[in-house]
Amino acid sequence: MSHRIVIVGGGAGGLELATRLGRTLGKRGKAQVTLVDANLTHIWKPLLHEVAAGSLNSSEDELNYVAQAKWNHFEFQLGRLSGLDRASKRIQLAATLDEQGRELVPARTLGYDSLVIAIGSTTNDFGTVGAAQNCIFLDTREQAERFHRQLLNHYLRAHAGQQSDEQISVAIVGAGATGVELAAELHHAAHELAAYGLNRIQPQNMRITLIEAGPRVLPALPERISGPVHRTLEKLGVRVMTGAAVSEVMADGLKTAAGEHIPASLKVWAAGIRAPALLKNLDGLESNRINQLLVRPTLQTTLDDDIFAFGDCAACPLGDGSERNVPPRAQAAHQQASLLAKAFALRLEGKPLPEYRYQDYGSLISLSRFSAIGNLMGNLMGSVKLEGWLARMFYISLYRMHQMALYGRFRTVLLMLSDRLGRSTEPRLKLH
Ligand SMILES: Cc1cc2nc3c(=O)[nH]c(=O)nc-3n(C[C@H](O)[C@H](O)[C@H](O)COP(=O)(O)OP(=O)(O)OC[C@H]3O[C@@H](n4cnc5c(N)ncnc54)[C@H](O)[C@@H]3O)c2cc1C
Repeated sequence: MSHRIVIVGGGAGGLELATRLGRTLGKRGKAQVTLVDANLTHIWKPLLHEVAAGSLNSSEDELNYVAQAKWNHFEFQLGRLSGLDRASKRIQLAATLDEQGRELVPARTLGYDSLVIAIGSTTNDFGTVGAAQNCIFLDTREQAERFHRQLLNHYLRAHAGQQSDEQISVAIVGAGATGVELAAELHHAAHELAAYGLNRIQPQNMRITLIEAGPRVLPALPERISGPVHRTLEKLGVRVMTGAAVSEVMADGLKTAAGEHIPASLKVWAAGIRAPALLKNLDGLESNRINQLLVRPTLQTTLDDDIFAFGDCAACPLGDGSERNVPPRAQAAHQQASLLAKAFALRLEGKPLPEYRYQDYGSLISLSRFSAIGNLMGNLMGSVKLEGWLARMFYISLYRMHQMALYGRFRTVLLMLSDRLGRSTEPRLKLH
């Protein structure tokens, strides 16, 4: 029997890896590649703030695992990882239920020779009182769509009413990339909604507050990007609060540690991440305080050579002599998937595995449709600051690289063309 590689999690990293391995080892019959995911379809997570604002229709950008598996010589299994038995080399999958709570796919176990865990992360609310009950997180397509429906419902209610100067208040906790991009995208959505005639709420009456506990917006990115982003957001009318920790979330707003009450009908929590709780004690594998599995530079877990982990759910040393780990970003998941695709070919030949070294190609922050601000890193030129249309083009290219890994060059070009055509025949904002 050929070597069984089981990849759990078909996100930014896992799906790229399954596709690459399927096209190489799977196609040649050298390995049996299986991808497991809790859902039937994949959407690239960095698009979720656009789904929330309505500028992206998630059903157009989602990918079906069953079809992707068929086209790329791997097998897909629907199921949620619920346990692991390292001694017998089997994973446990929980039963999948349909919307009525009836069993769709039963609980089962799956054997592996090599296991790759790539189940990503979820938002960390740090146990803040009321956050889980009153905030929307942007971890899944369903959550992003729920936010969009709530936003649209406010506009529809206002449209049906008599008043012409209705308001809507949105509070976003966390001014990292997700919070900043969502704020800019919502500003754009407010203008589009008014342009489509839902103008009882005028664009300036969408009150967006962005709250950050750290001293500046984008605390994880270079300081010189924070200033221009902060200024641009304020120019768009976003109220930016830095050095303000949220201590409680209520149904009608938020309270900061300094005692200020910020009224908000829509509240999004976008501050910090943690890996799924299941990884905290997964048959004795080592994990850190945010549940990430500890891995070596080969991306093998510290205690088991046959189990790999990568992407957001893994704590991989940055390798620069510091204590820091590789940041939880799509860029890192993409690089690690490419490395593992090569590593598995070597592993099957009994050769030593390559080590992962994070390459920071820079960070770009999208500020709605036409602009972006960020830096690009290059060997020759060091770090170059980019703004405007050109930065936006580089920003989009990260998603195109993901599509290229999944569909190949030709189909990616077709998708780009179809996106262009779609833009001329469909509303610029999802209105349902
Ligand atoms: C709104 C938003 C914007 C972002 N913007 C950027 C950006 O601009 N640039 C950037 O570099 N990064 C960005 N990120 C971060 C980026 O999305 C993540 O770093 C990246 O998706 C991590 O990839 P991953 O493969 O580790 O996990 P994910 O892409 O999260 O995939 C995890 C997969 O595992 C599946 N899964 C989860 N639990 C289980 C289970 N128990 N069993 C089976 N399957 C399971 C999920 O269904 C999912 O398919 C953004 C994130 C968000 C939320």
